[in-house]
Order: sequence, then C-alpha cells, then structure tokens
Amino acid sequence: MRDLIFANAQKNPVAPWLQPLWDSMDFNQIPHAILLHGQSGIGKFEFAVTLAKFLLCEGPRAGSGPCNQCEACHWFDSGNHPDFIGLVPETHRKLLPHADYEADEIPRKGKAVREDSDGEASEKKEKKNISIEEIRSAIDNLSIGSHRGGNRVIFIYPLEMLRPDAANTLLKSLEEPPSNTIFILLADRVDRVLPTIRSRCRLLTAPRPERVQGLSWLQDQLAQLAGLKVSDADIASIYDEQGGAPYSVLNSLIARNNKDEKDDLTIAIQASRYLLQSMSQGGRINWLDAAEKTHKAQYSFLLAAMQRWTSDLQAVSQGGNPRYYPKHLATLKGLSQSSHTPKLHLFWKSLVQARRHENHPLASRIQLEALLSQYQQVFEGQ
Ligand SMILES: [Zn+2]
Repeated sequence: MRDLIFANAQKNPVAPWLQPLWDSMDFNQIPHAILLHGQSGIGKFEFAVTLAKFLLCEGPRAGSGPCNQCEACHWFDSGNHPDFIGLVPETHRKLLPHADYEADEIPRKGKAVREDSDGEASEKKEKKNISIEEIRSAIDNLSIGSHRGGNRVIFIYPLEMLRPDAANTLLKSLEEPPSNTIFILLADRVDRVLPTIRSRCRLLTAPRPERVQGLSWLQDQLAQLAGLKVSDADIASIYDEQGGAPYSVLNSLIARNNKDEKDDLTIAIQASRYLLQSMSQGGRINWLDAAEKTHKAQYSFLLAAMQRWTSDLQAVSQGGNPRYYPKHLATLKGLSQSSHTPKLHLFWKSLVQARRHENHPLASRIQLEALLSQYQQVFEGQ
C-alpha cells in the first residue's frame, strides 16, 4: 500500500496546496541547504523526495519536475541512485523510493500473522532516531566527488530528532558546504532545530491545505485505492482528528485497512485449523459444530484447506504420499481405510464445484454444513 502511495505520488508528485511553493523555487539558483518545515502529514516528505529527484534528474530541463525517463530518474525510483543519501529513521525508510520487494513479502504474510507477538514487539523496537554513525559516514563520504558527476543530495528527516553530536557534525559541513551537494532538511517542528543550523539554510514553509482542498485531495487518493471503503463522514471526522493533515489521514486509513486484512487472515487460519481437526475425525466429525465454529472465516480459505486435506486423503487411499499434510500420514492412513472411494471422489467434485462460487467473502453456514455432512458420509457404511 505504501508503494501505492508512492506510485500515486510519482504521477502527481506535488500536492496541490504545495504547488505554489514549488513554483516559487528558482531551480537555477538552488541554495546548498534547504530547510523545509511545516506540520507533520501535509506532504512535505513527498515534496522533498520529488525535489531531490528533480535535482538529480539528468533529463532535459524544459519541464518543472523530474523527467521520469532518464537513467538517473530510474535509479532514483528504484532506491539505487548513488548520489542520493537519505537519512531517515527506520520508521520512515519505506517512504523513500526503494526497490519493489512486494512479491517477496507476500509468502511471508501468513508467517507474520502466526508470529504476531514477536512481529509487533520488533516493530516497536524500530529506531526512531538517526544515528550519529549514519550522519558521520554520509558526511565523511562527501569529500569524494559525486558518483555521476552531477548534484548530490543529502536528505534528512526529521531534523529536530538529531541528537546534539549528530547535529554538530551536520553543522560543520553546512559551514563548509562541499561542492554540488544540496542538503534537503525536513522538520515538523522548526522551533526545535538548532538556531545555528537554521541560520545556514534557506527556510521554506510548507502550508497546510484549506479543509475543502485537503478533503477533496484525500477523496481522490482513496478512490484510487481499490478495496478501501470509508464513508465521507468518517473521512471528515478522521481528517479533523488528525489536525487537517491529509497524508496522515491517508496513512492511518491504509494502516487501519491493513489491520482489518490481518484480522481476517488470523480468523481464517484459526478456522482452517479447526476445520482440519474436525475432518481428521472422519465419520465421527461433528459437522454442525465445525460449520458453526468456522463459517465466519473467508470461504475460499476454508475450501482451499478442505481441498488440500481431501487431495491428501485421495493420494493416501491410492497408496501414495500426502503432499500437504505429511505429518498427518498416520491419521490419513487410518481414514483412508474406512473411506468409500467413489464417495470420496464425489466429495472432491463437490469441493471443486463449490470453489467456482466462492466469491462470497464469508462462508455460508448452510453450504459448509452441506459439505461437511457429505464428508461424514464418505466414511459411513464401511
Ligand atoms: Zn530524469
């Protein structure tokens, strides 16, 4: 989802209420240090990322933004531009352009849910500070020329969270700025930034949008995120709760949506576990109870579990090995001895049929009861 925001941001990089600020900039005379400040969650971060990309872009300078075509833009978008140094806490790293690892993360989804408690603990441990080591190594490397011979951008957020030692290191290089190096510094609270740092920067104030403008931008963004259904009244009340910061609202709505997804998955995992326990009882299955305990889970998830189990049962009946549940070989063997092969085959067909109509988000209890009672009959009369 974060990637989605970034993709949207690339298409329409500067929020409309920040456009006048962008237009006011003289890109032929960029100061060596810019301090962009303003309320948190109004799009400063995204603005600054676009600015960094533009300063590194090697395309024709005709437009007023990055060309999105040149090699430098591609490097930047994939998080690989060697002359872009982003110093942000771990909590914000995902907001910087990065390679798309989405595909790698999907298989870990189920695992993450099962290890819920560990996952949440480590999330809390995420560093909220930028370490002195990071600042120092970034600044030490400035003595070497830029990799591509053009500009080099050092991006720091949130500036007010720098510890004094790190701030002093930064201050020294602001006093003697290396050539072709532009510092883009971001602060939510400019009053907490060292005055000595502030005085060496061009200050840019990012305004908060008018309520109407902010809300309409937010609705546009939400319209592009399929599956995120929030009523206008809810949007407006969250908007006011978040102090009129549209990006904060968008992030919190997305986080809330992801949490719902995660809850759904937990329910589905627990339900399919219960379902398998019940099915391992064969003819003694209490199908009413099993349907009762599992029908609140996603239907497709339950059907998939039933299919895996039945497929293993068929394999074992034919003298083969279970593919999905090898740990339950003994149970499957026992069940296969008391199962009626043609009925088992018919049951499999019913499952395949049911999968064609699985688009209902939740299983209907009646459908589940019918399937599970059919399963029981596979073992009857043996
Ligand atoms: Zn470019």
